[in-house]
Order: sequence, then C-alpha cells, then structure tokens
Amino acid sequence: MDKTTYWILRCEHRLLFLADGAQFPVGHAADFGNPERALIVSESPECRHVAVDVAEFPKIPGAEPVSVRAIFTLAGPEIFALAGRATQLLDWQANHRYCGRCGTPTEIVADEPAMRCPACGLLAYPRLSPAVMVLVRDGERLLLARSPHFKPGVYSALAGFVEPGETLEQCAVREVREEVGVEIANLRYFSSQPWPFPNSLMIAFFADYAGGTITPQPGEIEDAGWYLPAELPLLPDPVSIARRLIDAALAT
Ligand SMILES: [Zn+2]
Repeated sequence: MDKTTYWILRCEHRLLFLADGAQFPVGHAADFGNPERALIVSESPECRHVAVDVAEFPKIPGAEPVSVRAIFTLAGPEIFALAGRATQLLDWQANHRYCGRCGTPTEIVADEPAMRCPACGLLAYPRLSPAVMVLVRDGERLLLARSPHFKPGVYSALAGFVEPGETLEQCAVREVREEVGVEIANLRYFSSQPWPFPNSLMIAFFADYAGGTITPQPGEIEDAGWYLPAELPLLPDPVSIARRLIDAALAT
C-alpha cells in the first residue's frame, strides 16, 4: 500500500508550502522529477515526509515558497520542527558530499542518518551545536541583553555555544560572566528547543543573580540591563524558546 508522502522541497533557503492546508505538497517521486538524493525526514505507519533540494520549484496550485521561520506562524510547532529537521538534514547532506578525511565521495547509509566514506569508512552524522540560554533573575528583575544582530529594540536572555569538554552548567556560568560580567547561582533547567538556524539545540535555564555589575562584552553585547515586569523592552518572537523562558519567568 502506498503511504501518503509529503515533499519538503527547498530552493534558495525557502520551502514550498501550502499555507491553506498548513502542510507540504503531497505526491509521488515521479511528480517531482524522481530525485536521487531525497532524504526521509520522518516516517509513521500512515505517512512520511521527504526532503530534497531543487533547482526550481514545480508549479503546484496554492503552494508558495516560505521561510522555515514563517512555518511556525502558518502551521504551528510540530510542522515547524519537521521543516527545521528537513533543512538541517539537507544542509548536512550538501556539506558532506566528500569524506572530510580522505576526500572520496560519500554514500548515504540506509536506515540511519549517516554518510559513509566507501574508501576509509569514516561516518559523518548530522552536526548539532548545543547552546545554553540563561535568564538571570534578581527578585522580580530580569537581566535582558541585546546582541548587535537582533532586530531593532529587541532584548533577550543570554546565550552561547557549549565548548568542547564543557558541561552545560559550566557553559552557563562562563557565558554570563563573559557577556555581562555577572555571577550566577542556583541554575535551574527550563526546557530545550531544536533551533535550525543553522543547527543549534538550545538548552534553557533560569539562574539567580549572585554578584557583579553588568558590563556588556564589546562586540557581543550591544546593551544589557535589569528590567522590571512593567518596564520590559521588545521581546523575541514566540517561535523562540527565549520568549517562552521570559514568559515563564513573568508568570511566576
Ligand atoms: Zn574517507
């Protein structure tokens, strides 16, 4: 029996999407030119999602190219997660066409997300970059900061990538110290979120202020300060875990 197959087609960082049905186009491989390197993104007994990079989008009534981020608003977190997984797998495939050790063209491994070098056997798995986010609290006040690449006026919690050999807890302490010169205590896990721009896994925490004066790190932090709930600056979009973290702090 033929499963329903949804096609996540990507061209120039955009995905073809049916906004009315809040879903990706359905079809058979022949409808999309029988692509050789289509990747399975998810599979259930009823349906599967496959992803492929295309040179140009086919004409499908009602389908429009949209950004991955826009899919959160159009279709909610589950379809957004599929879109993010698809783009990360497509990036990984595109960036591992040759073995990083010996330069031989790689082959796709069946049944697991891996590319294998047929000459030396090196396996390449999709890359994930864990990043820690910390919302520092001092009583009612929240420590919010803005990086130069944020949208104008937007402030958020602090965040940074985990370094080799580091625990999440050590990363949180180091990042807050480096970015704003503040010490923290009582780190508490909140939640996590895959963040496919391009391949982060955000792990979010609350922490309590434990000393120091806010001193923004030049080049990394444009501005930072303590904010009372009634005097908040612009906050990140609801798509990001940063916004959920801040909202959760305000609700308690
Ligand atoms: Zn090799």
